[in-house]
Order: sequence, then C-alpha cells, then structure tokens
Amino acid sequence: MTTHPSRSIRQVIPGAETSDGAGVRIKRSLGQQPSVRLDPFLMLDEFGSSDAADYIAGFPSHPHRGFETVTYMIEGHMLHEDHMGNRGDLRNGGVQWMTAGRGIIHSEMPQQESGTMRGFQLWLNLPAAEKMQDAGYRDIQPEDIPEIRIDGGLVKLIAGETAINGQSATGAVSGSSTAPIYADIQLEPAAKVSLNVPASHQGLLYLYEGDATLGQQPLQRSAANILADDGDSITVKSGPTGARLLLIAGKPIGEPIVQYGPFVMNSREDIEQALQDYRDGTLTA
Ligand code: MN
Repeated sequence: MTTHPSRSIRQVIPGAETSDGAGVRIKRSLGQQPSVRLDPFLMLDEFGSSDAADYIAGFPSHPHRGFETVTYMIEGHMLHEDHMGNRGDLRNGGVQWMTAGRGIIHSEMPQQESGTMRGFQLWLNLPAAEKMQDAGYRDIQPEDIPEIRIDGGLVKLIAGETAINGQSATGAVSGSSTAPIYADIQLEPAAKVSLNVPASHQGLLYLYEGDATLGQQPLQRSAANILADDGDSITVKSGPTGARLLLIAGKPIGEPIVQYGPFVMNSREDIEQALQDYRDGTLTA
C-alpha cells in the first residue's frame, strides 16, 4: 500500500492590493515582484468586488506572448474578444484558458454594470519550445468542469490529474507539459479532504472564503500558501464556517524568465523581438 505524506506550508505570500488593466482592483500574490513566482506559475490575481467602480473599466485591447492565462470566474460576466475573432462569454463558474503562444491581442470587458464580480486570473508559463506556438483559446463552460462530491464538500477539477480521497479524477483540461492541477475545493464546516499532489509539482493553496488548516497549519486568507516539497498529497480541514480554496500545482520548467509586462520569454533578445513584432504589427502573424 502506498502512503501519501501530506505536504506542509513553507512560505506565505499575501495578496497585495493593486490595480491592472484600465483600473481593475485586484489582489496579486504571485507576480507582485519578479522574484515572487512559483515555477511554472508567473502570476496569480484575485478579483472580487460588489462595487462596479472596482471592475467596470475592464481590460481593453492588449497583447501577450509566451505563456497561458487561465481566468476562473466565480461570479460575474466578462466578454473576451481576440484578434482571431473569438468571442467568449465568461460567466459564473466558467473558465477561459488562453494560450498566448507567439502572440494574441485581446480584451476582457465586464458585461455587467452592477453586482458582484469575483474570480481569479493565473498566468502559467510555457517552456521555450512551446512559447512560439500558435495562439489558442478555450472557453470551458461550468457544466464541463468535473465536480467530485465528497463527504462534506465538493471539488471542481478545472485541470489536471489527481486523486481525491483516494479516487482518481481528471480535470476539464489535461495533457500540457507542466501537467497543471487546478482545483476549487468547497468544504462545509469541519470537513476534510485529501488530494494527491505529485512530488514533481510545485504548488500552493489559496483560501478565499472561511477558514481551513493544512495539517496543524492555518491557511492565510487571500494569500498564496506555498507547499513545501515534503510529501505528495495535501489534507485540508475546514473550520467552523466551512472553507473555499484553490489548489494550484504544476511541474517546474526550470528555464530563465525575462518578463516585460505582458510578454514572458527566456532572454532580453526574445523580449526585444516581441516588442519589435508588436510595433510592426506582426506579433500574431
Ligand atoms: Mn490579458
């Protein structure tokens, strides 16, 4: 019989309040400084407000090259449009998985003038060999995200392969070279769940509602609670009001990273090329 020792938390990166796009208020944990990343993840933003002024300006047309963005809308309505002619409505519980590859130009604009908008955007790096692939875009509807019911809760498996309380599960997205695991875990009060996180993966837990502990360690809210490399599973227990949290993990790429705003490459020369291509109108060509 295989045992799966539970990992502990080695570091906590609180989400820092900042704004991005045309003035959308966010909490940025990973990516708040170039040194604050968790290979293969570059950035993690939490957005959440019931004040339209915090989100209404959205993210007007802008480019990307060299990585993927994964947007998970917990509540709200955004419209994605890109240079390939894709139009994607992102609604409650839906996910947009965008591969910038060699280049994409897109906008992400709120389709509501009031009410709550909350969710997450994760930036997932690509290995050098995959950075210049054609851009791709996938809308994942809420009903296409596997929901695994457990005693006292629910796990939505957006991406990856894992075992949940010993039962194998595969997410809506799988097969990329960093083998990302992206799970949204919802626990009723005083409930418990275990998920496998391979020893090859770096990962984090992001608590966004309620209280929870990993082993004896309390998780910090709105923060990247970074997992130590001391096991190949996690066991999370919720507090008296229940908990909602994300598990995000992936295989590190181990290559140099040079970032300039929305371009993430391996060298200064690659970045110069991206800027040149953007100026010349050939970023996406
Ligand atoms: Mn974008």
